[in-house]
Amino acid sequence: MNGTRGAARLTARGVVRRYGGIQAVAGVDLAAPPGRVTALIGPNGAGKSTLFDCLAGTARPDAGRVLLGGRDVTRLPVHARVRLGLARTFQQIAVFPTLSVADNVRIGAEQRSRRDNGGGVTRERAAERTARALGLFGLEAVAAEPAGEQPTGVLRLVELARALAGGPRVLLLDEPAAGLDAAQTARLLTVLRGLAGDGMALLLVEHDPDLVAELADIVYAMADGRVVAAGPTATVLSDPRVARAWGGAERGRERGGR
Ligand code: ATP
Repeated sequence: MNGTRGAARLTARGVVRRYGGIQAVAGVDLAAPPGRVTALIGPNGAGKSTLFDCLAGTARPDAGRVLLGGRDVTRLPVHARVRLGLARTFQQIAVFPTLSVADNVRIGAEQRSRRDNGGGVTRERAAERTARALGLFGLEAVAAEPAGEQPTGVLRLVELARALAGGPRVLLLDEPAAGLDAAQTARLLTVLRGLAGDGMALLLVEHDPDLVAELADIVYAMADGRVVAAGPTATVLSDPRVARAWGGAERGRERGGR
């Protein structure tokens, strides 16, 4: 089946998610188009993670719809969305510490092989994709080492390599540069831009205004569960409502950025 391949847009329409009396997400429309990096920004408690969970399938919206490549996935569990080409990395790094770096990445590659072959895993193809994903982040030298012995920066790249080895059409990234040093961040930016250049849709939650300014094409700014501004990055970052709610954009640039 070829319906799982090619470019895809991730869309939220009127998404609402409540926790008790709180509307963590209060009716959000958002589109992450293929070939673009879209960033979701906003102060703590704005609802970014909750919206992310609704998109990824770890939370079910109370109202509204989530579309992946035009298909309604609102009620699909995480693994079904993964099969349709949605991948995600977490703010809290989640790797298998006793497995090697390469075996962690291979898990993502095998998911893709299953998707491609309707159940059968092609060992060679999974190995190829693992090697390519390791190479993308310069992880070859630590490939055979246990993941649990790697520093945070490396683990973040391992997580990303695992997500990419699955060949996603849409990639959700939760603060992807947290814990990375300057060289790793530069490499990350190059890789993420390249993925968007190849037609992938990228959506990231990010607190670092410099990174958003450098990487994102489109920005959605949230506050109190709602989108308060959306559009091209420069326009949204200079919007006074965003500067007031977020507070970081101007200060970040004054620091001189990356
Ligand atoms: P941060 O930048 O701090 O991660 P955020 O923008 O991701 O914040 P959310 O974590 O989505 O914001 O939280 C939005 C609101 O929903 C907050 O008021 C939060 O306390 C509440 N909330 C989030 N998750 C839960 C939960 N599991 N149970 C109860 N309330 C929750």
